[in-house]
Amino acid sequence: MWVYPPELTPSEGERLTEVVKDWTIAHGLAVRPPPTVIPNEADPSGILATAAPVTLFPSPFPDVCFNQAVAVQKTYNELYASISQNEDFLAQIVKDIGDSDEFIGELWKIHLRVKEEGYVQHKSLGLFRSDYMVHQDANGSVPQVKQVEFNTIASSFGGLSTQTSLLHDAARLASGIRQAFIEYGPSFTAHEKCALFLVQGGERNVFDQRHLEYELQKSQDPVIPVFRLPFSEILQHTSIADGAGRQLLYKPPQLPAHTFEVAVIYMRSGYGPSDYPDQSAWEARYHLERSAAIKCPTVLTQVAGTKKVQQVLATPETPSNPPILSRFLPGNSTGISELSSTFTNIYPLDETEAGLKARKIALDPELCKSYVLKPQREGGGNNVYRTAIPEFLKSVPEAHWTSYILMELITPPPVRNVILRNGKLEQGGVICELGIYGTCIWDQQAKTVLHNEQAGYLLRTKGDKSEEGGVAAGFGCMDSVAL
Ligand code: ADP
Ligand code: MG
Repeated sequence: MWVYPPELTPSEGERLTEVVKDWTIAHGLAVRPPPTVIPNEADPSGILATAAPVTLFPSPFPDVCFNQAVAVQKTYNELYASISQNEDFLAQIVKDIGDSDEFIGELWKIHLRVKEEGYVQHKSLGLFRSDYMVHQDANGSVPQVKQVEFNTIASSFGGLSTQTSLLHDAARLASGIRQAFIEYGPSFTAHEKCALFLVQGGERNVFDQRHLEYELQKSQDPVIPVFRLPFSEILQHTSIADGAGRQLLYKPPQLPAHTFEVAVIYMRSGYGPSDYPDQSAWEARYHLERSAAIKCPTVLTQVAGTKKVQQVLATPETPSNPPILSRFLPGNSTGISELSSTFTNIYPLDETEAGLKARKIALDPELCKSYVLKPQREGGGNNVYRTAIPEFLKSVPEAHWTSYILMELITPPPVRNVILRNGKLEQGGVICELGIYGTCIWDQQAKTVLHNEQAGYLLRTKGDKSEEGGVAAGFGCMDSVAL
């Protein structure tokens, strides 16, 4: 029988480890080492890099599923551009999540403050990633891709996946940023324009971001100066120009004589509470939001990316629940049915009929085994799985349950592979998660889409014993597809 991937003998394993560990570094498929591998004291200047965890073989992936996910991406881009333009809908989402989620509440306040003053920038940039797993019932039904989540902020690995898949994601994502840089128009303040990457201090996934930056630097016409700015230093190094235009000005600390006008802000931070340790961090976000820079994402688009929105979209229509997708994609019935086929069951935990039913499931020691409970958070490590759900829910005040959603677990067919992580091979069953990137630029006011592209793919794989899939979080690894 032909077995894929092949069983490795110890010497084949050693040889492949040797090859892969050099190839990854030579091609920039790298991360900063986790402190469990290199303690901070051993690398106080942060000069070390190590191979990102990878599978030795591309994982088998049904090509119908891959094509289904690729084909629907531009419709997803359009959907989320449209949701971002629908303030009433998002206001209702924020209300539904309730006062129990302070983070989302604070974000929304920023939108309200800027709205009162009036937005000066109506164009918006989305660098999206829609994540899927292949679903197959226990009875061996035809496999289908089902969406895990849709990311509207800090969608990572577009830079590194270029290397594993050689599909040029970084170039296509960078081209979205470049397009926004052009859409911004000429500088208003006579200062040269730039793009700003907002990052977290001590980011281990820095090379993923660097690949995007290097791609942008290849642009000759226009030339695009790119700077990295830690989220915590926004107020220190940027200001808003005098006058009604509210251009964002950036003074790089390393070039004291220079001022740049920021055309595009690309956020690889700001997606979770840890980036907002105090009120000044919220002021910094407000400061960016009211500026004329094109933001990726705006507060509205960030809120559009909540799991609550995903749940509302996936909730089937009933007499009391009118069709939702046609509200955002009027007249696009083909697109709507393609989107719907990627949804799996997601329930609210509120006091609606669906919510009360979901509460029963979540608290039932048997039924809960097929579900995952999610708060409105990004970045991995926040979900509660299976039998841990009832106890967890009981520990949360009932008034806060509305800020969670309950999602049916997607069950992929079994796949085997070998993962090389921190120099060691791990062999066994794996679970693959496909991410499809999309770039989109739209005008909030004119309600037009100016740019819409599918921008490559990412396959992340984790051991089948691990619930979370984030590579940076230390559980998953980079993979590519064998269709
Ligand atoms: P985050 O915003 O933290 O990335 P996700 O919704 O992507 O949250 O969930 C994190 C991980 O949990 C996913 O990468 C996936 O491995 C797993 N997961 C999430 N939802 C499901 C699901 N419905 N079925 C199976 N696994 C899931
Ligand atoms: Mg995720």
